[in-house]
Amino acid sequence: MIDCFHFDPELLSLATQAEQDCATMFARVEEIGADCEAAVLHAFQQCGVRSMHLQGSDGYGYGDEGRDLLDAVFAKAFGAEDALVRHHFVSGTHALSVALFGVLRAGDTMVSLTGKPYDTMQEVIGIRGQGGGSLREFGVCYRELDLDVSGKVQMEAIADAVKGCRVAYLQRSCGYTMRPSLSVATIGEMVAAAKQSNPDIVVIVDNCYGEFVERQEPTAVGADLMVGSLIKNPGGGIAQTGGYLAGRQDLVTQCAYRLTAVGIGKEVGASLGQNRGMYLGLFFAPSVVVGAMKTSIFALRLLKLMGYPVFPAYDAPRTDLIGAVKLGSPDRLKRFCRGIQAGSPIDSVVTPEPWEMPGYDSQVIMAAGTFTMGASIELSADAPLREPYTAWFQGGLTYQTGKLGILTAAQALRAAE
Ligand SMILES: *Cc1c(COP(=O)(O)O)cnc(C)c1O
Repeated sequence: MIDCFHFDPELLSLATQAEQDCATMFARVEEIGADCEAAVLHAFQQCGVRSMHLQGSDGYGYGDEGRDLLDAVFAKAFGAEDALVRHHFVSGTHALSVALFGVLRAGDTMVSLTGKPYDTMQEVIGIRGQGGGSLREFGVCYRELDLDVSGKVQMEAIADAVKGCRVAYLQRSCGYTMRPSLSVATIGEMVAAAKQSNPDIVVIVDNCYGEFVERQEPTAVGADLMVGSLIKNPGGGIAQTGGYLAGRQDLVTQCAYRLTAVGIGKEVGASLGQNRGMYLGLFFAPSVVVGAMKTSIFALRLLKLMGYPVFPAYDAPRTDLIGAVKLGSPDRLKRFCRGIQAGSPIDSVVTPEPWEMPGYDSQVIMAAGTFTMGASIELSADAPLREPYTAWFQGGLTYQTGKLGILTAAQALRAAE
């Protein structure tokens, strides 16, 4: 069957070698995935999900038991007290923005312990862009603890950095930088260091791309709130839109006041037809994450065998879905992204072009031949057009189709050599 893709025989033999090299990592990923699947099934059972909960509400959405129980199922699966899971979150950035505005007040200070946050968050905070209504405009001060030269968190500097702060902000995944992503164990150590110095601090974790990659989530190791997108890991490729936040109940309530209105909070918000997809997506999420992780590990090995610097190494312990490859030229960057697009199930005939995206400070080329627009739990690649021309890639709803997408991109790269 694979013949109909017309891959070069040399590329296929590299792929065979890559796949053999990945066997140990694949087994590890599958073991973790099995435990996460068990945790999710257990959460469904313990919360007593019934078929009526899959139905939706309209209008105000009062008494939408399916919506309310979904919060409980997410909380249980994540080891958190409470959660707010809504299709009303338009993106991960929106959910993170709600978390920060929900917790911070004028005169408060937030400190990022992982250097500069993800591009879109910089405008929310007010350190970039002209947008009115940033945290800064509302009187929230911001400071940053830089990462060290190797991209690691300066653990010994946390105690000082958090003094006088209301919020410590951590980004688990590397985003568009080549720093190592934070393991959940490291997040646990950071939380402990921050709280020892400042017991009242609220630790908020940007958990995008991290869900179900490890056995535990940040809320299980002391983070007060964590936040993510439903068109990434926890939506399982099925949720059509939305985001979540999970953590301490009082903070989740405050954030719900910010998302809807003070006093109304979680009690309103019609789920429309979205409950079923969000439940089913969560149910599938751990196994979809396994497919995406295997796709990532395979890609990292194959691209390395082809001579490109990759990050992280294919056999490194993982905490998120993101892989990166340094392609060194705009031409190879475009070829790679166009190859990912051509290897996708949807819009495979479309040619991605670099463009200015709101929230990003250089042109970006994106490959996303996805069922859900922009869903990066599906195989996708993003690359800002700047030195050293690195493409970030993630996702893959199934390993076999993810692998074919990666091979299509690899073949496009080989044509450039
Ligand atoms: C995806 C992502 C976000 C949020 O991005 P949206 O495109 O708004 O969903 C924030 N932080 C990180 C690290 C991300 O990967």
